[in-house]
Amino acid sequence: MPKDRPELPPVEELLTAAVTAVGGVERPGQVKMAQAVRDAVESEEHLAVQAGTGTGKSLAYLVPAIRHAAESKKAVVVSTATIALQRQLVDRDLPRLADALEGLLPHRPEFAILKGRRNYLCRHKTAAGMPEDEDDQLFDPREVSATGRMVQRIQDWADETETGDRDEIVPGVSDQAWRQFSVTARECLGAQRCPSGADCFAELARERAGEADVVVTNHALLAIDAMEDFAVLPEHDVVVVDEAHELADRVTSVVTGELSEATVSLAVRRAGRLVEQGVADRLQEAGEDLRALLGAAPPGRVDTLPQSLGLTLSLVRDAAFACITALGPRNKDKDDPENAGLRKAAFTVLDDVHDTAQRMLDAFGPAAGGTGTGLSADDSDDPDSRASDSGSSGTRSSGTRSSGTRSSGTGAAASGGPTGRAGGDAEAEEIHRAEVVWLEEGRGRVPPTLRVAPLSVGGMLRDKLFGDRTVVLTSATLALGGTFDSLARQWGLRPGEWTGLDVGSPFDHPRRGILYVATHLPQPGRDGLPEAYVDEIAELIEAAGGRTLGLFSSMRAAKAATEALRERLDVPLLCQGDDATGQLVKQFAGDPATCLFGTLSLWQGVDVPGPSLTLVIIDRIPFPRPDDPLASARQRHVAAKGGNGFMAVAATHAALLLAQGAGRLLRSMDDRGVVAVLDPRLATARYSGFLLNSLPPYWRTTDPGKVREALRRLTADL
Ligand code: SF4
Repeated sequence: MPKDRPELPPVEELLTAAVTAVGGVERPGQVKMAQAVRDAVESEEHLAVQAGTGTGKSLAYLVPAIRHAAESKKAVVVSTATIALQRQLVDRDLPRLADALEGLLPHRPEFAILKGRRNYLCRHKTAAGMPEDEDDQLFDPREVSATGRMVQRIQDWADETETGDRDEIVPGVSDQAWRQFSVTARECLGAQRCPSGADCFAELARERAGEADVVVTNHALLAIDAMEDFAVLPEHDVVVVDEAHELADRVTSVVTGELSEATVSLAVRRAGRLVEQGVADRLQEAGEDLRALLGAAPPGRVDTLPQSLGLTLSLVRDAAFACITALGPRNKDKDDPENAGLRKAAFTVLDDVHDTAQRMLDAFGPAAGGTGTGLSADDSDDPDSRASDSGSSGTRSSGTRSSGTRSSGTGAAASGGPTGRAGGDAEAEEIHRAEVVWLEEGRGRVPPTLRVAPLSVGGMLRDKLFGDRTVVLTSATLALGGTFDSLARQWGLRPGEWTGLDVGSPFDHPRRGILYVATHLPQPGRDGLPEAYVDEIAELIEAAGGRTLGLFSSMRAAKAATEALRERLDVPLLCQGDDATGQLVKQFAGDPATCLFGTLSLWQGVDVPGPSLTLVIIDRIPFPRPDDPLASARQRHVAAKGGNGFMAVAATHAALLLAQGAGRLLRSMDDRGVVAVLDPRLATARYSGFLLNSLPPYWRTTDPGKVREALRRLTADL
């Protein structure tokens, strides 16, 4: 051990102290996990640990993490997918751990939470130093007054808050209201230039994080820190990714770019105050062309670039470039914060519009993308344009630059090439495809939106996240089909670069739970919930006396089941959307007779120990929808490369969600119950082995009589 490293108690001793202090019981899986995390940190080898519910996995990684921070004097970053887990760590686990370990370590462990810049109140913008973006005149008057009330609440809170953290505002406020008080990292003036820089909430949060042993953040900010060439998180060499099964999806969201008439209009409004009318008008016209085109096009994946879309994207890109040029040098107003704020806000959205249009063209291959000439991002005369100062850290609103080149030129698309890759056959084209473009239908005030996302984020994660730090990935669900390989592939990890460990679960699954597959039912159809499914659900709920969480693969099915069963059953039936989800879960947990039906967020977000949750019903295997653009494109891409697209994408997605859904049943050592899957394919399809191997090892049956009997017995005992 290097001389300057303090002698610290071993991980096992610290864990015992921590478990005793929180009044828990030390479990073999927890000790095994803590030792494995310690070994990974020491050997600098990435580790994936599956730890079932009840293992106490947060202590199992926090204890070795805190020990490493005390020894190395560097922070350890812990990243989560959900705010609920962030809260649990910061409000419950870490304060108790700090108390427990204080006397055993050289200093009391310090911890902090760090979010993206847009989550903190911007004092400069609040003092009206920057433009308000909203096109209020287009709003429905009811929405305007609701937004107005939220704005007033934010203003009142702004006078009192000590952290500026949006999550303090209860009840929460809409994005639209919040945007008037916050900036993205790229819009921020930078602490050096900003008149409010010394009191900036985001800067203060960063400062606190810089002094902490453990910094809790989210997957999005972790990804931005890894991918950008400026640091967002404090210096660290170890990251723990909890809820790691969500990592690839969260990173994909961060790097998904979007373009719509609304984005272009925002750019026009911001640029319109600063450039000549004719230049802004050109962008407005391009935005109108985009609106007309997207409004008339069918939603879904865009596999080849239609000539009209190629032309419009080129027009948008070039018009945005003209505005950027007309704005002049980026650091022109460095001594005039008010103007600098306006210009920075304009540059940010114009850069996004330009880069996203270019990225979309590039997605169809070099012939569509155009070679372009002109300003590259790094050619800009502003050394600050790459957000090199400390004030420019945080989230980027959408996408990443596909290349550093900023193009004003004309490519094949602009000159009318009908498809992206000239002359290439479809398969070769598919193999080389790196990104997928799709059109999302407009909803309410949200116009039709074109999106672009990478087919895989594995390469990006491998280079940027796993490259220069040790990463511990953990979740209750990492082994799909019995191995970690599917998720390791999504993360871009190759064999030999990581170790996998399943520490199991303290629950006795075969004795405490039954997995029932209703093989006598027909396969689920495309047209809603079959009548036989409704009958089966009714019988199961009657046998359980309520106590049921219904996990449906679509909101339509959840609503149909609720409607049909409210007439037939005497137990209270709640459906997601009736009220805020948190409120519904509370009601469900508080009354054993109550049932709760819903879709995606309930599959992963319900933690109800005790008799209120005795039966989990799953209506069908949750494959991605066939028209899911990203999943279908990924599937096709794997197939073009000779792999099994269905297993690599659709079955993997379904296995993960099924395992999460089935995991809702046992949440404490005393829990017992049934997971009922109505879709018979779980027992009969050729891929069923893979799915079944992904689930907790419940006792299995296909006999409806046995299950109803078991439910009656269980509820009689409660
Ligand atoms: S430094 Fe940036 S985030 Fe902070 S107050 Fe100034 S503009 Fe707002």
